[in-house]
Amino acid sequence: MPINAKRAEWNSNLAQIKKMLCVILFLNFAMALAKSLWGYYSHSISMQADGIHSFLDGASNITGLIGLYFAADPPDEEHPYGHQKFETFAAFCISVFLFFGCYSVLKSSYGRLQDGVTAEVSWASFAIMIVTLAMNFFITRWEGREGRRLRSEILIADAAHTKSDIYVSLSVIGSLIAGKIGYPLLDPLIAVLIAGIIGKVGWGILLESSKVLTDVSRIDAKKIIALVTNIPKVETCHAVRTRGSMNHVHVDLHIHVHPQMSIEAAHELAHEVEEKIMKVFPEVAEVIVHLEPHIPGLKND
Ligand SMILES: [Zn+2]
Ligand SMILES: [Zn+2]
Ligand SMILES: [Zn+2]
Repeated sequence: MPINAKRAEWNSNLAQIKKMLCVILFLNFAMALAKSLWGYYSHSISMQADGIHSFLDGASNITGLIGLYFAADPPDEEHPYGHQKFETFAAFCISVFLFFGCYSVLKSSYGRLQDGVTAEVSWASFAIMIVTLAMNFFITRWEGREGRRLRSEILIADAAHTKSDIYVSLSVIGSLIAGKIGYPLLDPLIAVLIAGIIGKVGWGILLESSKVLTDVSRIDAKKIIALVTNIPKVETCHAVRTRGSMNHVHVDLHIHVHPQMSIEAAHELAHEVEEKIMKVFPEVAEVIVHLEPHIPGLKND
């Protein structure tokens, strides 16, 4: 496919992905509002917890959108390395919100065990839970199918997450039934379980963003050395460093070439090295090659 057609296809895919994320964001916030308000009104902590959970799902849609709107922008004067870390920063903020949500659910569950208030389960509670459950089911199917068609990692990951939300809503329905038949204690217990899920998601996001912030190595240096030393005219390769996010990696490395090689030929070779690495590791966004003359006995520097 010629490069322009490829770019046009990608742009139209991007527009569709953004539109889908906006719709799902709206649905998540609508579900969050219904569950939190009714949960609050009927004193059901597990419903409130599921509502907070839906708010956070909406927040993670916002990170996805930030990633697509800002992180994909080309580098400019102010951000010469690109805008990838906007996404990391947004993810970090969301993990803070997640911990806050986790704490508030735990606090109200603990309060419930102290005061012994019981939730007033009505048919409206069941109706809200069943409608939001059906919405989540529909979102999972739709998002998964479109995600595969548009080859979007964000949509596929979000669809998988929404699928796990179905089990959360089912457990809330379980606690409502338990409340109806005389086991009100299940309400705060299910809420604690949901707090655990929220906390676990937050921990995962925090861990991933800390890897970007602390410049964790992203690709095994040995693999890159093996690849680069296989290129004709590259004598040796050392000082390989990788950093960045999982799907946006920066690489820099040193190569030795024959001391008499012309600058023109060496420059061409450097580009060959860059292209080869980007082809084998599609997550690599940029490679910087430092050239050195290959003089036997000379120490690497
Ligand atoms: Zn969720
Ligand atoms: Zn060049
Ligand atoms: Zn060196």
